[in-house]
Amino acid sequence: MQIKIEGITDDRLHRPLQNIANLFYEECVLTYGGSEESSDLVISLDYSESLENVTVSGEVKGTSIKERHTKPISSGMNEKEAFKQVKNTISYVYLNLLQAHTGITQKWGILTGIRPTKLLHKKLQSGMTQHQAHAELKKDYLIHDEKISLMQQIVDRQLAAVPDLYQVKDEVSIYIGIPFCPTKCAYCTFPAYAIQGQAGRVGSFLWGLHFEIQKIGEWLKRHEIKVTTIYFGGGTPTSITAEEMDLLYEEMVRSFPDVKQIREITVEAGRPDTITEEKLDVLNKYHIDRISINPQSYENETLKAIGRHHTVEETIEKYHLSREHGMSNINMDLIIGLPGEGVEEFRNSLRETEKLMPESLTVHTLSFKRASEMTRNKHKYKVADRDEVSQMMDDAVVWTKENGYEPYYLYRQKNILGNLENVGYSVPGQESIYNIMIMEEVQTIIGIGCGAASKFIDPKTGKITHFANPKDPKSYNDRFEHYTEEKIKYLEQIFEKTSL
Ligand code: SF4
Repeated sequence: MQIKIEGITDDRLHRPLQNIANLFYEECVLTYGGSEESSDLVISLDYSESLENVTVSGEVKGTSIKERHTKPISSGMNEKEAFKQVKNTISYVYLNLLQAHTGITQKWGILTGIRPTKLLHKKLQSGMTQHQAHAELKKDYLIHDEKISLMQQIVDRQLAAVPDLYQVKDEVSIYIGIPFCPTKCAYCTFPAYAIQGQAGRVGSFLWGLHFEIQKIGEWLKRHEIKVTTIYFGGGTPTSITAEEMDLLYEEMVRSFPDVKQIREITVEAGRPDTITEEKLDVLNKYHIDRISINPQSYENETLKAIGRHHTVEETIEKYHLSREHGMSNINMDLIIGLPGEGVEEFRNSLRETEKLMPESLTVHTLSFKRASEMTRNKHKYKVADRDEVSQMMDDAVVWTKENGYEPYYLYRQKNILGNLENVGYSVPGQESIYNIMIMEEVQTIIGIGCGAASKFIDPKTGKITHFANPKDPKSYNDRFEHYTEEKIKYLEQIFEKTSL
């Protein structure tokens, strides 16, 4: 699909226009010059700004589809805010033109960002009533009532799970990335390296990881910064041996401040084939009872096709084993739209989940991320269409409601099938606090280990600075000291006042 856009001269608008086009077309190229003949669609946009407002009119050339919209610009707005108003007005007109042309309605309106609930939190924190905030989301972003009510439901649950959500900015959460898995799944873009035959590399990696934990822990203790949550992700953190896990958690307890007071520690045990009694005993030893076991699908055919190398039976068996060994808060992930799967297969996954009843269930929608094997060989994988994906999502909503789960976080992705969202559901009171922290960006997350992304959030200004550790173990092993030092520098900057 090629769309020619006329009337846009500011490059800063290209990305938002592309993001909106991607909501309508799987593969879409926007051009801002050249001939009309080579384009499938020509959209003309015209905008004018005065001291009081911005007006945009637009049309789909060769049709009768036209649209016009005006938004106020107040004298109190700085340049950035004024530009945002222009951008949103253009997006508003452009979205309406594409909706009229394609007949597709976008329930998230012009919102293409990955954290819609953050926007609602912000409005409520600024003192708006729920009614005012909802009205603005509807009017300014064209978000449908159904999505606004989902956002509000999530915000309510988050505040129930973390009543001091707006105050935890002076604490930090910690993400520990372990980049190994038994095998690599086809849709995966995480730092995940098949662990087989990598013993030497794993050893060096863990050496670096212990170093980072010690140094960061030391710094946090010295500055009396509390840790809210710790999350072991990856990869699959249970890919390493029970003995390696034991030493790692021992390091965590020794190095981090006041580990007993940490609100939640989660270990992803995503691949059931990594779970053993011995490893569960190690988790017990450190009072870790929240793990994630990810079936993704309950069809053996699908698991094979996506390269997961474990069976449905194994998922169920390891789930029961984990329960018997004291895991009292288990999360399970399902993915909607895996290759070859439609409504029937997904309903089967929900029926199977009902037999297990994990405390939380995360429902992802398959996303074609650029770096995955699946995207590189897209032609090999047959995936469900927009309507079917939407039906599966609706099934998830109904099933979770009927079974006592409530949505407590959501995020959207680029290139997600059907422009839907990933939603985390949980039984009330069993929400993952770490997931809330990362989604709502309310506090600093320190990323330790391979591929771990740190997000430094200045507690005074809210400014976010990103910093990433390398994804591959070799680069990490070569320079972990450097990455640790860099993170400590950022911590010094944002918690400056505390360190005086
Ligand atoms: S188990 Fe998870 S991290 Fe590992 S390869 Fe599969 S999707 Fe990637």
